[in-house]
Amino acid sequence: MKRKKRSRCLDLKESILKEIHKKGGWVNTHSHLDRAFTLSKKNFPYANAHLHQKWELVDELKRTSTVSNIYDRMAYGVEKMLAQGVQALGSFIDVDEVIKDKSIIAAQKIRDKYKKDIKIKYMNQVLKGVINKEARRWFDLGASFVDIVSGLPGRDKGHEEEHLDIVFDTAKKMGKMIHVHVDQLNTSKEKETDLLAKKTKEHKMEGKVVGIHGISIAAHPKEYRKKLYKQIKDAGLMLISCPTAWIDSIYVHSKDPNRIGVERSEEMAPIHNAILPVDELLAEGITVGIGTDNINDIYKPFTDGDMWTELRFMLESCRYYDVKELVKIATINGLKVLGLT
Ligand SMILES: [Zn+2]
Repeated sequence: MKRKKRSRCLDLKESILKEIHKKGGWVNTHSHLDRAFTLSKKNFPYANAHLHQKWELVDELKRTSTVSNIYDRMAYGVEKMLAQGVQALGSFIDVDEVIKDKSIIAAQKIRDKYKKDIKIKYMNQVLKGVINKEARRWFDLGASFVDIVSGLPGRDKGHEEEHLDIVFDTAKKMGKMIHVHVDQLNTSKEKETDLLAKKTKEHKMEGKVVGIHGISIAAHPKEYRKKLYKQIKDAGLMLISCPTAWIDSIYVHSKDPNRIGVERSEEMAPIHNAILPVDELLAEGITVGIGTDNINDIYKPFTDGDMWTELRFMLESCRYYDVKELVKIATINGLKVLGLT
């Protein structure tokens, strides 16, 4: 019997990957390569800690890592990116009183080794904040090394404005862009993106500032989001989404203060997935890039740094099927976010 020939189906993954390749390759706008590939049997149980507990739990690793350990992790990460055809990469590195300048030294070696293969932009992670004297000293040193000055207002809780003013003043003085982790806890109690847009205008840094994550935006009602998008546009603020890193952020601290653990939040909110509302932002003409964030560490033990997985999670959780825009998110938007265009 003669078999009927099946017409070839539309392979969207194949066409998106082809277009990304034509545009020079993926842009991974956000990672923490100095802490990637650090998961061990010993620290795996910490994966269930709340985000704010993890900020402290990584101290032991930072203290005991040598420059060569950090270099090896970063090199492994860069090789993983190159194997996928990543053309440009943004990586935070820790610079604070615990790790001191070890990541800076490793990062410089990585930059020298891979300068012909990939464009790398560094940002300084400020897990100890920027306000207390010792933290500020390391922040200043980190800011002078990196390409993009960074902030983490949640780390200086109650002093978020002061934290951002220090970050903005430093970046202005150094003529650098700014990347800030904002709205990470998926709750309408957070309004950090709002504050970042306000500070961007106040410091006249329009078009030079990027908010990372913005998970809490979708937990707010529609009227708030509409107003926020207008503010984001006015400030020329760009945003980064790291889909698999945050899709699980539906939890809160356990009520038992002595327990490392989290439980589901019972907070009421408009129905939403735990992700930056990329569909709404793009409809407003706001630039969105994509990143992997943490890879194989206590923050994200199962994340492997695969760019297609990230894009797939984004398009599925936002039900966003505009292929052209998805290719832009993976390429040109990323270059804008990293200040490479
Ligand atoms: Zn991050």
